[in-house]
Amino acid sequence: MKEITQVVKAYEDAINQNRIVGSICDVCHETYVPPRPICINCGSSKIDITTVEGEGKVVTWTVIHIAPPTHIDKVPYILAIVELTNGQKLTGILSLAEGQAPEFDMEVVAGFEEAEEGAKRLRWIPKS
Ligand SMILES: [Zn+2]
Repeated sequence: MKEITQVVKAYEDAINQNRIVGSICDVCHETYVPPRPICINCGSSKIDITTVEGEGKVVTWTVIHIAPPTHIDKVPYILAIVELTNGQKLTGILSLAEGQAPEFDMEVVAGFEEAEEGAKRLRWIPKS
């Protein structure tokens, strides 16, 4: 059985390697992104970490004006919920060009921005 700290580390390590991972259940083969230590579908704790396709469509978004200390220099920024091609939903900052507006069903791909202390962060970038 994997602990929550192990699946969080697997997710963060993958982001630092420019990819997104989820968990896949050994029993019912359900996939979750981000990865979970226990399958919500069948309750099994027998899960593996798997790489998923880093693209999808914008489901909805909100504009953040009051940010946590780590993001104060970025306000205002757009936090979007993206439905991946596998149907899972993953939240991340939407990086738009100057003057570009978010749209429902906007096709996006995962980008990986260098952040503090060499760690990378997921950014959703419109497909061009
Ligand atoms: Zn399962």
